[in-house]
Amino acid sequence: MKVEHVAEIIESWAPRWIAWERDNVGLQVGDPGWKVSRILVALDVTKEIVAEAISRKADLIVSHHPLFFRPPSNITTANDVGWIVLSLAEKKIAVYAAHTNLDFTRDGVSFALAKKLGLSNIRFLAPIEGLLSKIAVFVPKEHVDKVSEAMARAGAGIIGEYDHCSFRMSGTGTFRGSSKSNPFLGKPGHLETAEEIRLEMIAPRALVQSVVESMKQTHPYDEVAYDVYPLDNPGVDFGSGAIGELPKAQTLVSFLASVKKAIHAESLRVTGNTKLQVKKVAVCGGSGSDLLPAAQRAKADVFITADVRYHTFHSVEGKLALVDAGHWETEHVILEPLAQRLREAARKNKESVNVFVTKLSTNPIQYV
Ligand SMILES: [Zn+2]
Repeated sequence: MKVEHVAEIIESWAPRWIAWERDNVGLQVGDPGWKVSRILVALDVTKEIVAEAISRKADLIVSHHPLFFRPPSNITTANDVGWIVLSLAEKKIAVYAAHTNLDFTRDGVSFALAKKLGLSNIRFLAPIEGLLSKIAVFVPKEHVDKVSEAMARAGAGIIGEYDHCSFRMSGTGTFRGSSKSNPFLGKPGHLETAEEIRLEMIAPRALVQSVVESMKQTHPYDEVAYDVYPLDNPGVDFGSGAIGELPKAQTLVSFLASVKKAIHAESLRVTGNTKLQVKKVAVCGGSGSDLLPAAQRAKADVFITADVRYHTFHSVEGKLALVDAGHWETEHVILEPLAQRLREAARKNKESVNVFVTKLSTNPIQYV
């Protein structure tokens, strides 16, 4: 398997277009054509992780946090990032990061956290809306399969577990070309009619431009008639945070004891009544304070996230219990499911790839 194939597996689940605009996801170090037989999965790329990759003979590190948050001004051994890049280049170890795209996808970071905490009926806490567009294009019948295939290849027609989804309706198109036109059918200056198919496919808004370009390249007309409509459909596959229910209600204090154990948290910062009965639990792996209003609207009994500020704790006003369980603690839970997904994809493709999760904690915070 090559680095680019690993990227394809990850991006078919957590596409790059769903990541935050200012995020830096994808290949960070290496060549897409490098061969991969051993993959180390980690939350961060630190010097210790690089040493582990070298000693375990990994040729690719798949990390959650990007190696470069800001463009480096130099690549020298004077700083950690420079040392890391030089060491990786010397050993031909690639680095691929799936960050906010892994946060916003189904079964991503927050879903993994919700599963780890024993929740059922897990769904997005805040589905992302306004992500989709519909493209309708008028195509002569004999060209419709070719055009639809080109659009599908560019990312149109995916609904949940189904791809190549389209709708086709036949009708009559009319046109009259000017003297400068070059019509596929008929002559310039004549009013022509043609039997056409109205082909409809949905596409992520971020991909509309490339879908339209591919569509135009395969369409036989010199002027292609098409419409792009924004859709208000809520996201099915993408959102932030997760919410679900515990098998039965329990006190906050007993639930939090199980949370600590499940995610290896040494301590939790909590506001709320410890005798409160909790059943509906909202979570967001990493910095998820922005989702507090969504957790309140969803009537969650408790919201578990990380990097919560003092004033945010105050703003809760006793409406739910708010828990800061730590950034590393709420995110490392994705590593095993991510490794498992890569293993399964490799097995399906009959590739022999060894995927393993780091043995190290890259949590920079210690509790003393
Ligand atoms: Zn994070």
